[in-house]
Amino acid sequence: MSCDFFALANAGIQGLSPYQAGKPIEELQRELGLEHVVKLASNENPLGPGARVVEACQRFLRDVTRYPDANGFELKRALSAQFDLRPEQLTLGNGSNDVLDLIARVFLQPGTSAVFSQFAFAVYPIATQACGARAIVTKARDWGHDLDAMAAAIEADTRVVFIANPNNPTGTWLARAALLAFLRRVPQNVVVVLDEAYTEFVDDPAFPNGLELLAEFPNLIVTRTFSKAYGLGGLRVGYAVSDPRIADLLNRVRAPFNVSVLGLAAAAAALGDADYLERSRQVNRDGMAQLEAGCKRLDLPYIPSVGNFIAVEFAADAMPIYERLLREGVIVRPLAQYRMPRHLRVSIGLPEENQLFLDALAKVL
Ligand code: PMP
Repeated sequence: MSCDFFALANAGIQGLSPYQAGKPIEELQRELGLEHVVKLASNENPLGPGARVVEACQRFLRDVTRYPDANGFELKRALSAQFDLRPEQLTLGNGSNDVLDLIARVFLQPGTSAVFSQFAFAVYPIATQACGARAIVTKARDWGHDLDAMAAAIEADTRVVFIANPNNPTGTWLARAALLAFLRRVPQNVVVVLDEAYTEFVDDPAFPNGLELLAEFPNLIVTRTFSKAYGLGGLRVGYAVSDPRIADLLNRVRAPFNVSVLGLAAAAAALGDADYLERSRQVNRDGMAQLEAGCKRLDLPYIPSVGNFIAVEFAADAMPIYERLLREGVIVRPLAQYRMPRHLRVSIGLPEENQLFLDALAKVL
């Protein structure tokens, strides 16, 4: 007789559905025998790695038989110098996703709750539920976070508020004044996670830099990543910046070697490559303009986005369009998981990739 492993699992995990990732290029190639596939499904950097990252990885290849520095001393030093921080404020993660999980593990458990918005990044509900905590989901306003509703939703058992600025998958963002007013309303004993995974893409002068708010709000945790503008999605490096007392707690549950030898080396190299970052931003600006113009030509509404992706709206369920795009060799991201069944999220690619997508879209519509 077989054991009922499901019954043994933590209650929160029994009710969990796994995160749905973008379809890998190789999978589509295998399934449809396609040679050329364009993936605009995971908000990846279309530039490929910069020369400095390639050089750093080659140099550190000889060290891959050794465990990485468990404290990430060099990367923390580089981050501290770059952003005027103290190393004690930093927690390194296997991507910022890892850090979000650490925050949940430290502050959430059965009998507590976390507040986040409808259409917020899918990892917040997963991390919350995995810890057995209750999710308090506030209604979105114009697809974005409604900070008034979020502040009002905080209850006595609330330990964490998750905010993505900008948010994925909507690309919506919060201005400094609104965020400040919100932070002043949140009780000191509620941790506010400000997820800035896409911050490097935003140009608007009213867009806040979370790092500048840390001094005033000790309950604030800013999370950032090397996966997007820095182009290291496959190497998995992210980090949290917080009050050192919070960083100390996060580092207690962090797996000691959660960032690899190559990840540490590549992230430090990427941080020093201002040209690459600027090229990422430029390619994104141009690609966003290209996709917006293409959507207008096709008469398709979209949610204005400051990220490296755009959610395009269709007249009906977008799944058939997603499937037809796959047959054209173009992978985008359906948003049914976010209860946005009529939207597809398209990551900004290189000009020729964006054009292939637009041509395929015109063909399948
Ligand atoms: N936050 C947001 C808002 C994201 O969209 C993502 C990536 N999809 C992450 C965090 C996590 O990315 P990573 O683990 O690669 O840093």
